[in-house]
Amino acid sequence: MHLRNLKFHIRTHRNSNNTSAPNITHPNTSTTTNANQCALCSDFCADRKTVIEHYRDFHNIPIEHKKLTFQSEEEFITWKLSFENDTNCKYVVNYQKCFKSHVAASFNCHRSGRYVPEGKNIRHLKILGSRKINALCPASIKIKKLNNGTCEVTIMDKHVGHQNDIGHLNLSKTERENLAVKISSKVPFEDILDEIRDSITDSELKRLHLLTKKDLYNIEACFNLCSSSVRHKNDIISVESWINDMQSNGDAVLFYKPQGSESEEWPMLKNEDFVLIIMTAAQCEMLKIYGTDCICIDGTHGMNNYDFELITLLVVDDFRQGFPCSFLVSNRSDKQVLKIFFHFAKSRLGTALCPNVFMSDMAEAFFNAWIKIMSPPKFRLYCSWHVDQAWRKNLSKINTKEKH
Ligand SMILES: [Zn+2]
Ligand SMILES: [Zn+2]
Repeated sequence: MHLRNLKFHIRTHRNSNNTSAPNITHPNTSTTTNANQCALCSDFCADRKTVIEHYRDFHNIPIEHKKLTFQSEEEFITWKLSFENDTNCKYVVNYQKCFKSHVAASFNCHRSGRYVPEGKNIRHLKILGSRKINALCPASIKIKKLNNGTCEVTIMDKHVGHQNDIGHLNLSKTERENLAVKISSKVPFEDILDEIRDSITDSELKRLHLLTKKDLYNIEACFNLCSSSVRHKNDIISVESWINDMQSNGDAVLFYKPQGSESEEWPMLKNEDFVLIIMTAAQCEMLKIYGTDCICIDGTHGMNNYDFELITLLVVDDFRQGFPCSFLVSNRSDKQVLKIFFHFAKSRLGTALCPNVFMSDMAEAFFNAWIKIMSPPKFRLYCSWHVDQAWRKNLSKINTKEKH
C-alpha cells in the first residue's frame, strides 16, 4: 500500500463516526494483504472479517446472512450447483477444517481476490480482463457438516465490486463432457456452435450460449481428442503424463504409486513397487449392476518388457460376455497388493460386493484378498483353463514318479 492511500484511509476513517474503525495492517504488498482490499475505495484491511465490517459500516452495504439446512452433503452440493447457475456465480473453496463434532468449510465468490499471473507472465489476459477483481467480494457460503450428515449452511450473497456476468464463468463439467463427445464423434465445430445457438430461448442466456471456437479447441486439447497415442519416448514420463491427464480429466485413476517413492498411506508397498488402479465411471456402473452375480479375477503376465502383471476384475453381462470393470497394473500380485486393489474398488462402489460366484485361477491370493475386503461369495469356481493347466502339471509329476 502506498503512503498516499494510508493517509487517505486514516483521513476518511477519522471523519467517519464509527469509532471501531477497521484495523489496518502494516502497509505491504503481499498477496494476502492485497486480497483484503475494499472494492469501493482503496482501503486495505487486516483480514476478511474486517473488510466485511468495512463494507457494512463505512459503505452502508447490508450484510445479511441466510441459513439453510440440508439432510446430506449430496443435497447441499445439488443445491449449490443450482444456486450458482441461477445467480451466474461460482463459489470456490476457501478452507476446510475438521473438528471432532463436525467439518467446517467455506466457499468464497470466485471473483474475489487478486489476479496472480501464472508461470512467467507470458499468458495474455482474456479480452474481458481477469476474473479476479483485485479486491474482496464478501459473498460466501459457509457449511458446517455434522457427524450425522446434516449440513448447516450460512449464505451471504451480497456481491461487491463486480456484476455477475456469464462471461467470467467456465463451462460446467457436464457441458464440457457433452461437447467432448460431439468433438470426438467428429461433428464439425460450426455444427456444434449452430446447434448451441439454436437452443437459445428468449428467457435466459447461459454461459453455454457464449460458446466459442476457442472453447471447443480448449476442450479438444483437454480431453486429448486430437492426440495420437504416442507420447513421450521415455516410458516413465509417458506413463506419468498419461496418468496426469487421466487425473485432471476425471477420476478414473483410483490409485497410483510410482516406482521410487514411498507411500505413507500404504507402508507395505516398497519403494520399487509400482501400483496403478483404474476404474472409469462406466466400469463402475457395470460393476454396480452385474457385480452381485459373477465376479472373475484374471491375471495376465508378460504384456511388456517390465514384467508387470495386469489384473482385471470382470463381470459377466446380460450377453454372458466378460466385461472388465477395473484394472490393476503392478509388479506384485500378492495378497497385500490385491487387498489394496479391492479396497479402492470397494470405496469407489461405496459398498462391499457379495457375488453369487467368484471365479479366479488356482492362486489363493485372489480369493484370500477378496474375502478380507469384500464379502465371501456363495460359490467359488476356478477358471477351466487354469484347472486344465493344473491337471497337466500334476499329471507330469505322476508320470515322472512312474518312471522311477
Ligand atoms: Zn472502502
Ligand atoms: Zn462476488
